[in-house]
Amino acid sequence: MINAISKSKIGEDVCLQLSLPNHKYFYLCDCGQASDLTIADVKNLNGLFMSHTHIDHFYNFDMLLRHQLPVTRQIVICGPKGIAKNVQAKLLAYNWDILLTEEQAANALSYQIREITEKGIFLYELHTPQWKLERKGKLKNEYLYENEVFKVKYAILNHNTPSIAYSFIEHSKISMKENCPLKAGEWIKLLKKAFQEKNNQQIINIGNESFEAKDLFQYLEEKQGFQVSFVMDHLACEENHQKIIQLCKNTDELYIEAYYLSEEIDLAIKNHHSTAFISGKIAKEAGAKKAFPIHFSRRHQSPENLKILLQEFEKGFSV
Ligand SMILES: [Zn+2]
Ligand SMILES: [Zn+2]
Repeated sequence: MINAISKSKIGEDVCLQLSLPNHKYFYLCDCGQASDLTIADVKNLNGLFMSHTHIDHFYNFDMLLRHQLPVTRQIVICGPKGIAKNVQAKLLAYNWDILLTEEQAANALSYQIREITEKGIFLYELHTPQWKLERKGKLKNEYLYENEVFKVKYAILNHNTPSIAYSFIEHSKISMKENCPLKAGEWIKLLKKAFQEKNNQQIINIGNESFEAKDLFQYLEEKQGFQVSFVMDHLACEENHQKIIQLCKNTDELYIEAYYLSEEIDLAIKNHHSTAFISGKIAKEAGAKKAFPIHFSRRHQSPENLKILLQEFEKGFSV
């Protein structure tokens, strides 16, 4: 299970926090104004996934920086083309002369930036106190981000500027079926590993007998991991919609922008945004089990207008 919780109050910007049971770190999607974000949240942050750096999504980076300073590890920041320079510019806005001895600097907070482009994912590092942008080549991994509990996929959407949509997928769980007639033992670990590595011929010894792993796979069952998707600012157009549907296929939860009312479709297109109704409809087409509209135009922050936006979203999601 991935727990997603909005750290922004109604009327504030976008900041969605992700956490997992038995995993000590938090992850954030965007860092707009969010008065529910605590110092403890920030200290335990391990990754920031930025859709784009319009001010309503990036405004609160300074708060993250302020409370991450005592952290002695590398934080990963993912985002669209230009994110490395955007982060560096935030860091260079301060004077760092008081901070660290050389030895402390070597163990201090640093950032690894994963810049997502049509040509691949480019890596950069930023270290205190100069915060020089160091190029580290291209990411060669299958996923944008992966740790022991989940992996992350993405899509590049058109919001006039690139806007990255993310899908966080918990690793699937493999367990033994209850009807397995064989006596449990150390071999189960080996069998699960063989299954994950698709190693059909692996020999598994149980007592005095030997089996090929493929003959024992019938006793395993794989439970798909929980999936949370985050789709921010994007133009309501066919190309974006196909990318969203593919990325978020059957996602357990989808958090998506719902910026304008249906009657404002011209404004939505002009500003490369979506409407609540269309976002609800796309969430449905993607097969999302639950969908939450979370980003609205400042024109619509009154309770009456928000109610209409939510109704239009629900209408789209129930089509
Ligand atoms: Zn935007
Ligand atoms: Zn926005």
